Amino acid sequence: MVLMHIFNIFKNLNEKQREAIEILHCNLLILAGAGSGKTKVLIHRIAWLLSVKNCLPHSIIAVTFTNKAANEIRYRIKNLIDINTNNIWIGTFHGLAHRLLRMHYIEANLPKDFHVIDNDDQLKLLKKIIKSLNINEKKWTAQKAMWFINNKKDLGLRPNKIKIYNNLLTTTWLKIYKTYQEICDRSGLVDFSELLLRAYELWLNQPYILNQYRKRFTNVLIDEFQDTNSIQYAWIYLLANNNSNIMIVGDDDQSIYSWRGAKIENIQRFLQDFPNVITIRLEQNYRSTKNILKSANHLISYNKNRMGKNLWTNKKIGEPISIYSALNEFDEALFVKNNIKTWENKGGKLKDCAILYRNNTQSRVLEDILLQNSISYQIYNGQRFFERKEIKDAIAYLRLISNRNDDAAFERIINTPTRGIGEQTLNIIRKIANENKITLWKATNKILNKNTVTHYIISSLKRFTELINSLESNTTNMPLHIQTHKIIHDSGLFMMYQKEQNENSKTRIENLKELITSTYQFALKINIYNKNLIPLQEFLSYSTLGIIENKQNTTQNSVKLMTLHSAKGLEFPLVFIVGMEEGIFPTKMSWNENIQLEEERRLAYVGITRAMYKLILTYTEVRSLYGKKVYYQPSRFINELPKECIKKIKKINILSNQIQCNYLNKEINNNYYNYYKIGQYIQHPTFGKGIIINLIGDGKNIKLQIKFSKNNIKWLVAIYSNIKKI
Ligand code: ATP
Ligand code: MG
Repeated sequence: MVLMHIFNIFKNLNEKQREAIEILHCNLLILAGAGSGKTKVLIHRIAWLLSVKNCLPHSIIAVTFTNKAANEIRYRIKNLIDINTNNIWIGTFHGLAHRLLRMHYIEANLPKDFHVIDNDDQLKLLKKIIKSLNINEKKWTAQKAMWFINNKKDLGLRPNKIKIYNNLLTTTWLKIYKTYQEICDRSGLVDFSELLLRAYELWLNQPYILNQYRKRFTNVLIDEFQDTNSIQYAWIYLLANNNSNIMIVGDDDQSIYSWRGAKIENIQRFLQDFPNVITIRLEQNYRSTKNILKSANHLISYNKNRMGKNLWTNKKIGEPISIYSALNEFDEALFVKNNIKTWENKGGKLKDCAILYRNNTQSRVLEDILLQNSISYQIYNGQRFFERKEIKDAIAYLRLISNRNDDAAFERIINTPTRGIGEQTLNIIRKIANENKITLWKATNKILNKNTVTHYIISSLKRFTELINSLESNTTNMPLHIQTHKIIHDSGLFMMYQKEQNENSKTRIENLKELITSTYQFALKINIYNKNLIPLQEFLSYSTLGIIENKQNTTQNSVKLMTLHSAKGLEFPLVFIVGMEEGIFPTKMSWNENIQLEEERRLAYVGITRAMYKLILTYTEVRSLYGKKVYYQPSRFINELPKECIKKIKKINILSNQIQCNYLNKEINNNYYNYYKIGQYIQHPTFGKGIIINLIGDGKNIKLQIKFSKNNIKWLVAIYSNIKKI
């Protein structure tokens, strides 16, 4: 058996990779460029520790950059050696910190039912706090406050540890930070940065707990180490305790998250801070063709601050990198679409294509063209299921039922669906909460007991508190999915969306149903998670942390669209990088700052090295930005590619029918409001003749409510509906 495992583990590995897997009694740095098998080595090393060295799954902790990568690792280990991997701790820093805090909530000074809030909730809470403190919200924005707070937490700094130089700037931010933290503590809310800081403080302040984990985790493995921040580094440092059991895997050329506090220098620090470090360099790339790899190496050589590497491949030379100069974003999207069609016609699969861009907003035109041409696509890491409005509403009910002190959930649903509790009433509640340093729920009860407001307010508030209390008492002992189903119904959310009766509300209802399915599936799996918690609380935390998979992120045969940042660690046979323009990529902000420009270049390196066989770069001459036409120069990164590896594609049919048609479409988009009017007659290919009775939205997204014959009334998105004016 062991022999078979050894065979599977070492099959198809090079000598350096094998060495990295087998080496013991040292701290290990695997420093290597893209596609050299770093992640593969990490996975195979875990398999080797388990099956050959007989390490217990219990003794292993592995840190990945995304939840998806964590699932993938578990899956691949199981495939290699067929061992139960449930007891290995694999996850992101946030996921692991959360797990730790759940197990030791008392020592971490948290309520048992503490709730994790995402950035969106954090921002909303901050907006309200800034308002309630009477601070000028235009100058002291919630966004900046969030950066300040998260940045301090990432550096391990609580408000009392921040030096005040008597300037208004720090004192104001500090005031916001303090108030925010007080409210979070009162409400049992934990933001993402807080997870890391608490987990760090837990080990720092409770040596017996730390020792327990030091004894337990004799094997620590961390992927993508170049993007760790200070608090993550400090956490690992605490765990390590001078032991030689850490393997870090990283590539300084792929550090792309400094704007979020990541410290590229952590790799060098590791060499100094940890004893007995052995560095292994992997130099063979197994992912990309010679042309792609040579281009990536050449581009990154323009960066000055590098640890330096020598990456080679014995793959084929491959096709040159195609570079297309598009007329505008429509032409660019059509070009991408045509290439995908050609790829498909030659037998390629859609799921093997990825379109990468610098900013999320760039996906819109691409999506339109893919939709119009019935090419299935998936936005990777786009608006995630659990970030959708309707899901957040439903989850907020679940949250408030599980913890009445959850102010963020309270604010979200007190008037959703509308129940006559307006901003004024809310302000009264907030004021009482602030003055008495109590939560909004407690403040509401105070108002109800004192009867100092109008009868109307009292009765609306009473209805709300009674609803929440009865939702809890009526559903506590139900299985999670039935509980969720009942809460979505009885809270009035279903009814609210049913009444809206438009395309959007239909999707929202579908999503709410999907949420119920998701709770059902979660309850089935729950035994692999934390057995101490009730399923509802556990479900809530895992959904915020993005650990729960749902229909949307399972693999399908569809083109993947994503930002360059989200593409880290992935690989695809065919890759497009669109929007290669000065001012977009690299961003305008990075032009004057060499450090930032180097980070943009690393991002370009990450993008290029995602491609296995074919890479296509596109830029536009003119692009619409916020309703204006902006002219662009090609990205400097294009000029930094070796001339012999690229091929410029000529525009052949500049004004092909399709492009003309899109120009026309665009003009129509700009004038949609004038183009369609209530009372106008139209012809639809399936529903026949109809009359426009209502319209909402503007520009491209305009939706028309049309009455067809026999009282058949429909909401249609104008651009996709194929209707003609008659
Ligand atoms: P990145 O820096 O992008 O995260 P990486 O260094 O982690 O890349 P992997 O993703 O582990 O690289 O591997 C890249 C590709 O090369 C994968 O498809 C992997 O299966 C393959 N690969 C790695 N090592 C070998 C090998 N020795 N023989 C064949 N294929 C290999
Ligand atoms: Mg990797």
